[in-house]
Amino acid sequence: MASEKQAALATAPSDADAPTIFDKIINKEIPSNVVYEDDKVFAFRDINPQAPTHILIIPKVKDGLTGLSKAEERHFEILGCLLYTAKLIAKQEGLDDGFRVVINDGPKGCQSVYHIHVHLLGGRQMNWPPG
Ligand code: IMP
Repeated sequence: MASEKQAALATAPSDADAPTIFDKIINKEIPSNVVYEDDKVFAFRDINPQAPTHILIIPKVKDGLTGLSKAEERHFEILGCLLYTAKLIAKQEGLDDGFRVVINDGPKGCQSVYHIHVHLLGGRQMNWPPG
């Protein structure tokens, strides 16, 4: 969708510690539809769903991980947690016939929020190649 591309291109990658809207969601300063929470990971429904199930899975502590391209060795564990949590939520959501996980990175990857997040999409037939 052109507007998503424009939004991504307009969002300058902020410095690693700059808060994003996801900090407010984690801190419950703004409401979200939470589907999973533990001490490390928070997951909530996307406000602009691209599939019947569209959930964002994020680390509670960003620790400089604005996007996947900024990953360092110290992020090894949290990256595994995010993907494993995607699998748990897919099961919880009944996505037994398949699902998709996506990590958008940087302007050309159409990233618009610079706090790493895994998109979990399901509930319809996905297509390939993606847009
Ligand atoms: P990105 O484009 O990969 O960075 O994904 C960011 C996602 O955050 C988009 O799919 C947005 O729809 C979603 N989003 C932005 N603000 C909110 C919100 O307040 N609640 C839930 N999802 C949001």
